[in-house]
Amino acid sequence: MRQSELFPRTKKEFPKKAESINHRLLVQAGFIDQLMTGSWTLLPLGKRVVYKIENIIREELNKIGCQEILMPLLHPKAIWNETGRWDKADEVMYKLKDTRKKDFALSFTHEEIFLDLVRKHISSYQDLPLALYHFSTKFRNELRARSGILRGREFLMKDLYSIHESEKDLNGFYEEVKNAYLNIFSRIGFKTLVTEAGGGVFTDNITHEFQIIADSGEDTIYYCKSCGWAQNKEIFKGGNKCPSCKKESILKAKSIEVGNIFPFGTYYSERMNVHFTDKNGKRKPVYFGSYGIGTSRAIGAWVEVSHDDSGIIWSPQIAPFDVHLVELPGAKETEKLYKSLIDQGIEVLWDDREVGAGEKLKDADLIGIPIRLVVSEKRGNKIEFKKRSQNKIETLSLDELLKKI
Ligand code: ATP
Ligand code: MG
Repeated sequence: MRQSELFPRTKKEFPKKAESINHRLLVQAGFIDQLMTGSWTLLPLGKRVVYKIENIIREELNKIGCQEILMPLLHPKAIWNETGRWDKADEVMYKLKDTRKKDFALSFTHEEIFLDLVRKHISSYQDLPLALYHFSTKFRNELRARSGILRGREFLMKDLYSIHESEKDLNGFYEEVKNAYLNIFSRIGFKTLVTEAGGGVFTDNITHEFQIIADSGEDTIYYCKSCGWAQNKEIFKGGNKCPSCKKESILKAKSIEVGNIFPFGTYYSERMNVHFTDKNGKRKPVYFGSYGIGTSRAIGAWVEVSHDDSGIIWSPQIAPFDVHLVELPGAKETEKLYKSLIDQGIEVLWDDREVGAGEKLKDADLIGIPIRLVVSEKRGNKIEFKKRSQNKIETLSLDELLKKI
């Protein structure tokens, strides 16, 4: 697309009140805009990054047999009372009354809503296992929403729910999801640690968080630098010896939680009466698991771990565009080059704006698209090729360039 048409323009300076790097850079480069504390608009560049992340998640979940749906955000009180979470989760839930004085909650998660859905449609072991997911908004009354897009009061999550006829089947699927999550995060470009953790308002069982080491993180984890074992500070019992590989190699680090998976067993299904008939005709509660990824948080987390003094450095897998084509004064046939790149299926942001060379190059670094191509009078028919993550500049002909990309 032509950058002259892109909304909005980059800002010369970062927002004064921004405390975190992701807030500064994402706002200055035009990926997000703040409505109020913890509440963001995803602008065209930001929305493109979300699409990329969601598509990676979608591909990996579909591979393990999950199906995509979309559940409502406005929930009746009665369903939340069935598990006792109307009261238990009072602190995080946004609650409201309509004009008929009926109570509702805005979704902070969807376990109860998913179970209400499936209990209307399943009856026997032949209906199991079942795994459904959606990409949608969550509302949480966050008291410390000061970390840019890392902690919203309204944010995007991918949540997956699964039901099974036995604990063994649930555990098997739980491991499949764990692997799918590792694939998702490594495709995005993250180095994640699978971290044992408590379950908050969700469960008393051990859960697994996917944590990224980052100085700006709000979590603290202890991990083994030798084998990768990790535990959240909340449940870590102290010591320096790794319980997994037995080496004296435990380190402490600040981290960002990008995903969390929960093996619930039958706790919720018993309370909500989600039963099935097994092969012997016996009625049993289903085994239940829940699996979340913070898709909007992932964008902020990426920026926290991948930037320099000049701006963001996207990985090719989640970048808003593949190539930033920077047209400097006197360049010839830029439109032709733009079209031949597009014809190859390459996503191009073409800086066709009437501003100085310095400003264009500065903005390219700020936005952080992985490949920068510069065309100018000086270079004639040749194109300058530079990766955002490296300093090396190569001068290429169109043919050489197309081969390279
Ligand atoms: P935290 O401990 O950071 O408050 P959580 O453990 O309460 O998060 P979960 O209920 O596990 O969050 O939600 C699943 C995922 O959703 C998290 O791993 C995180 O990536 C994301 N997430 C949770 N809360 C927020 C938020 N307020 N803003 C953005 N993303 C969030
Ligand atoms: Mg969590």
